[in-house]
Amino acid sequence: MKLSTRILTLDGGGPRGDGWSVYYRARDMLAAGEPVTMLCIGEHDRKTAPFILDAMEASARGGNTGYALALGQPGLRDAIAERVAAETGVPTERGNVIVTTGGQAALFASMCAALDPGDTALIVDPFYATYPATVRGAGGHVRTVKARPEAGFQLERAALDAAAEGARALLINTPHNPTGAVYSRETLEGIAEVCIRHDLWLISDEVYSGQVHEGEHISPRALPGMAERTLVVGSLSKSHVMTGFRLGWVVGPEAAIEAMRGLANGTTYGVPGFIQDAAETALREGAAEEAEVAALYTRRRNRAVAALAGSAVAVSPPQGAMYVMLDIRATGMGGEAFAMALLERERIAVMPGESFGEAAAGHVRVALTIEDDAMVAALRRLARFAESLREAA
Ligand code: PLP
Repeated sequence: MKLSTRILTLDGGGPRGDGWSVYYRARDMLAAGEPVTMLCIGEHDRKTAPFILDAMEASARGGNTGYALALGQPGLRDAIAERVAAETGVPTERGNVIVTTGGQAALFASMCAALDPGDTALIVDPFYATYPATVRGAGGHVRTVKARPEAGFQLERAALDAAAEGARALLINTPHNPTGAVYSRETLEGIAEVCIRHDLWLISDEVYSGQVHEGEHISPRALPGMAERTLVVGSLSKSHVMTGFRLGWVVGPEAAIEAMRGLANGTTYGVPGFIQDAAETALREGAAEEAEVAALYTRRRNRAVAALAGSAVAVSPPQGAMYVMLDIRATGMGGEAFAMALLERERIAVMPGESFGEAAAGHVRVALTIEDDAMVAALRRLARFAESLREAA
């Protein structure tokens, strides 16, 4: 039977597209029993805190295992609203919140709310790998706008303005995966101005909002005139080490949230109640855990930057999130060739910058997701490898 064009073209290059070949090769090597240091993906080496697991178990054993409310349990929606209001100063209530299966489903729900079939969504290159599929899944066309390494991967107003004509939505991410950029107030004001001028929905992916090493996270929903056109995507995956719980949310105008109810009914039918209870406990009682997780990545980021100082690898210290982007152009190689050679010769797996778009070509992304000393040792080997290439070039 014929499959739809939409499902066949979601991933562009397909699940084993070039950008992921290093990752899949590393997985194959591990499966064959070869040791590989995995610095590829944003999965924590830490485990979910026991008090969150206890809350989940108590909830399930207490009987919260039936169908849940599609928009989310009132208590959890209130907890999310209170957190967002406290952090941003923007009045936020239960009616502004839908609970979703992770930030990923929140991104998809937001795209579905913003786009009609055939509409264009702008995404910023380099981008988190799932963004194009999220746009295409909602029937939209992807248009990229480049954020330059020379501009610290901040999205520049002129480039955005030039790309915005005829678009319906803009998807941004701050703190940013893969680059670690945290958008400045100036950047966000430029974005807000362009969104208002071109009448764009702004989808603001803030899943790393609590992981800021330097500067401050500003939510663009708090800028004048933006609350009515901004859909904020949040998640507990990164902040509370709950990736497998699939717990995220969209915060936005009440009419948009209410409209997403139909999507939840037609897809997930809501997030399991015992997961929602665990999430509410994480939000209401997890401040210390969240701070510890954030401090862990800041410490590793500092150690990673120190380990590479003075080497053939240029690093602009990331301001947030849980990755470090390395500029390896001095080796004369592209990111993909470098990452594959590093894997074959040193058994270290990193993501080529090219997996995230064109703007990060000549870079590789390192996830700070292994124990500190092993990470530092791997980065020193990576630096020596880069130096050997530079000398040979
Ligand atoms: N957005 C960004 C920028 C991410 O890096 C990720 C996960 O790595 C997600 C969204 C999806 O996160 P979740 O686990 O909440 O679906």
